Amino acid sequence: MKSIKKPIVIVGAGFGGMTVASHLKRLNPSLPILVVDSEEKFVFKPLMYEVLSEELQMWEAAPEFANIFSNLGITFLRNCLTKIRFDENILEFNDDLNLGYEFLILCTGSLSSTFSIKGVDENCYFFNNINDLKKLKTSLQKIENNKIKKNLFIVGAGPSGVEIACKVDDIYKNKFDITIIERSNEILSNNKIFNREEAEKALERRKINLLLNSSVKEISDQKIIILNDSEIKDLDQDVVIWTAGVKPNLLYIDEKVKQINGRILVNEKFQIDNFINSFAIGDISIIKGMEDLPLTAQVAMQQGNHLAKNMELLFQEKELLPFEFQDNGEMISLGIGEASISALGVTLSGKLAFEARRLIYASKLPAISKSLQSTASWLFQKKSILNKVINKTP
Ligand SMILES: Cc1cc2nc3c(=O)[nH]c(=O)nc-3n(C[C@H](O)[C@H](O)[C@H](O)COP(=O)(O)OP(=O)(O)OC[C@H]3O[C@@H](n4cnc5c(N)ncnc54)[C@H](O)[C@@H]3O)c2cc1C
Repeated sequence: MKSIKKPIVIVGAGFGGMTVASHLKRLNPSLPILVVDSEEKFVFKPLMYEVLSEELQMWEAAPEFANIFSNLGITFLRNCLTKIRFDENILEFNDDLNLGYEFLILCTGSLSSTFSIKGVDENCYFFNNINDLKKLKTSLQKIENNKIKKNLFIVGAGPSGVEIACKVDDIYKNKFDITIIERSNEILSNNKIFNREEAEKALERRKINLLLNSSVKEISDQKIIILNDSEIKDLDQDVVIWTAGVKPNLLYIDEKVKQINGRILVNEKFQIDNFINSFAIGDISIIKGMEDLPLTAQVAMQQGNHLAKNMELLFQEKELLPFEFQDNGEMISLGIGEASISALGVTLSGKLAFEARRLIYASKLPAISKSLQSTASWLFQKKSILNKVINKTP
């Protein structure tokens, strides 16, 4: 067994980082692990829509790292990585802290991408983190009291755009005239057909407008200018929510590290080219030969799980295994109390899908301390019941 002198440092404690840290700790409890994240809370992003609609409380979808990691027995440091000196195995943080590592795991996720379109940064709301969510919610609540119906645009008809549109319509009934603007000729173009069809029906039922084949050219504080079927149109806007794309969160990386489309190129064992004691998983990475993997929590968690097993093999001085992705399907929320699921040959929609989706997510939430679990939380109560059932299963 290889002995390590310095901790394994995991930077970024989202879906990838949380999974690799907890699995590694379970496989090898004596390993020194240090997890670093610039934020105070873990964000279970697929549940942010339910926080917007107040179907869930903020703390349920965003529990504190300190609580999760003390429960796991893992050291957590809140700090922001600003630079990596790969040749020296040194990490630099924004408060001048320098930290040495023997093994490094990077998983710092994505940021919203505006594609440098004029006015997007200044005039749009985003939906990628808790601050975005709070800002949007405050603003929608203010507008809600207005007597005149307001024009709300959502740019991007991927899962986020569609899920926000349905929730906002259900929460603020008749307060907004909602339009989704999408560059391609269909919604959810990368999603399962069943979910796309269910989403189309959900949008139709709510009379949410769709502007397909339309790309945004510019956004000002009152207008949104689009190119629609070769015609420039300027539309009056009161609120614009931007969900049109993400880019990897790699502000600390320099050109020494090979990248494809701005993401770190890794081999099928997640090792970074030329720096094989460093690994990258989740949204920031792209695997050679598996370039089409979607940017999802499902991928990040499977990668985290696989990397933990590989790290254990590495300490046993055994050969690392290549990653294989298993598509377990997808779930989308479609308004308050409704969802659609297409997974492993099973399709489900409506209220039953909503309950199934919440149960599945409950099982995936990180564990938190007992004192918090006892407060009124449907999700954490279900998680605790599921854990008991799983632990009793022979
Ligand atoms: C609204 C929304 C809904 C989604 N719904 C789904 C869904 O239903 N199903 C699905 O599979 N996927 C979904 N996704 C996508 C999914 O959340 C991401 O693919 C997933 O979070 C990627 O995991 P990750 O570990 O790469 O990064 P993340 O989970 O984003 O974690 C990155 C972590 O790194 C930290 N960090 C960033 N920079 C630094 C730094 N410099 N120093 C220290 N820490 C840093 C961040 O604070 C964060 O905690 C959704 C995304 C959004 C925005």
